[in-house]
Amino acid sequence: MRPLRVAVIGSGPAGIYASDLLMKSDRDVRVDLFERMPAPFGLIRYGVAPDHPRIKGIVNALYKVMEKPELRLLGNVDVGKDVTVSELQQFYDAVVFATGATADRDLNIPGIDLEGSHGAAEFVGFYDGNPEFPRTWDLSAEKVAVIGVGNVGLDVARVLAKTGEELHVTEIPDNVYETLKNNKATEVHVFGRRGPAQAKFTPLELKELDHSPTIEVVVNPEDIDYDEASEAARRESKSQDLVCQTLEQYAIRDPKGAPHKLFIHFFESPVEVIGEDGKVAGLKTERMQLDGKGGVVGTGEFNTWPVQAIYRAVGYRSDAVNDVPFDDRAAVIPNDGGHVLDGVDGSPIAGLYTTGWIKRGPVGLIGNTKGDAKETIEMLLADDAAGNLPTPAQPELDAVIGFLEGKGIEYTTWEGWHKLDAVERERGEAEGRERKKVVEWEEMVRHSRS
Ligand SMILES: Cc1cc2nc3c(=O)[nH]c(=O)nc-3n(C[C@H](O)[C@H](O)[C@H](O)COP(=O)(O)OP(=O)(O)OC[C@H]3O[C@@H](n4cnc5c(N)ncnc54)[C@H](O)[C@@H]3O)c2cc1C
Repeated sequence: MRPLRVAVIGSGPAGIYASDLLMKSDRDVRVDLFERMPAPFGLIRYGVAPDHPRIKGIVNALYKVMEKPELRLLGNVDVGKDVTVSELQQFYDAVVFATGATADRDLNIPGIDLEGSHGAAEFVGFYDGNPEFPRTWDLSAEKVAVIGVGNVGLDVARVLAKTGEELHVTEIPDNVYETLKNNKATEVHVFGRRGPAQAKFTPLELKELDHSPTIEVVVNPEDIDYDEASEAARRESKSQDLVCQTLEQYAIRDPKGAPHKLFIHFFESPVEVIGEDGKVAGLKTERMQLDGKGGVVGTGEFNTWPVQAIYRAVGYRSDAVNDVPFDDRAAVIPNDGGHVLDGVDGSPIAGLYTTGWIKRGPVGLIGNTKGDAKETIEMLLADDAAGNLPTPAQPELDAVIGFLEGKGIEYTTWEGWHKLDAVERERGEAEGRERKKVVEWEEMVRHSRS
């Protein structure tokens, strides 16, 4: 029996975990892992903050999977653009979409499009050296607002509140360091419309804010408020309870005298970005109060915060892949436990599967994509065992390589990643740090294919 041929689209954690499970199965499986960027690892490379080296280090665990001879990385290939899904189906029994998310969700309040109002994902793309995002950033604002009380909001707030020097030890490229060095922010205000018991932070990230000697975390004791539903949420989740405890400590402790203040405000719902000459000049919020059921209602009282820049960290949003069904409302590929459907509430499409953030929406940590992958891959293998996968016309391993080369696609490989990795490490070592990222797309391709 010939090996099962599977194309996994997206080399973030979801795609890599799915590949791992396929190769660990009893079936002889050969996986091609397609990636649109020249380098692998998805949001671990282009989302996780540079001052989180321990999390970035998860890639080391993923090396074990990437190094297996049954897997090939085919980077710098945008599925849906460089190759169509039906073209791929000539070569594979099954295609698994693990295309994640890179864009910001919208926040529809007046003034959100003013100059100085940004999506968190854009800023993350900038500081994480993603070639598709700007090379410089206007950091002239002294007072900045971050809308959203989740971990991405905390990342953005922390990077804005730290000094360029503190971040220079990380893998940030020169253009990012040169920009951050001139950051004028001394006050960063994070806003949540609900209370501490509804905040989406994880305890470790929240606690870690205080480790920087330049950051003073400030919480107003009046914002520490719980109703019955909030108390229940604390009882039900140890993690939520730890978040509340940390916020309480921030609210009551003596100031440590650090130069940059990072305020976390609760019960403030952003209603308008105030502009002056087309630029952000403030944020107007409505004071909220708990409704007894874990929700909030407006009090009719408003506050104005004189900030010169605003970052909305209200969630990521996935993009559709050409010719693959997409649920515009939920911004996911419609699926039943990972089997792609031909529409919301539609029927399964033979041979197409999905996993990770594009399957269930952009929430959860890297580890959560493991469970997703398990559900999806078990289904794929069961369909294979039942003879329910379509038969590809050219399942031979070399056929797809010939096809990509015929199209003139300059694909990158796992060997190529090692070359790019070596260049980044060398550049970092010269400055006493572990790595310095290569930013430019063409340069990444050039090193990978050298
Ligand atoms: C700013 C930020 C910080 C985070 N920090 C942490 C953290 O500290 N700890 C933690 O555990 N989790 C963190 N997360 C969450 C974590 O990044 C996600 O849980 C995880 O990356 C989701 O994995 P994924 O594989 O589904 O998507 P992604 O990581 O987005 O990977 C998807 C991959 O698919 C590729 N792709 C997309 N479209 C195509 C296409 N058409 N053709 C080919 N390839 C394609 C993309 O380039 C990408 O490489 C963070 C997330 C963000 C946004």
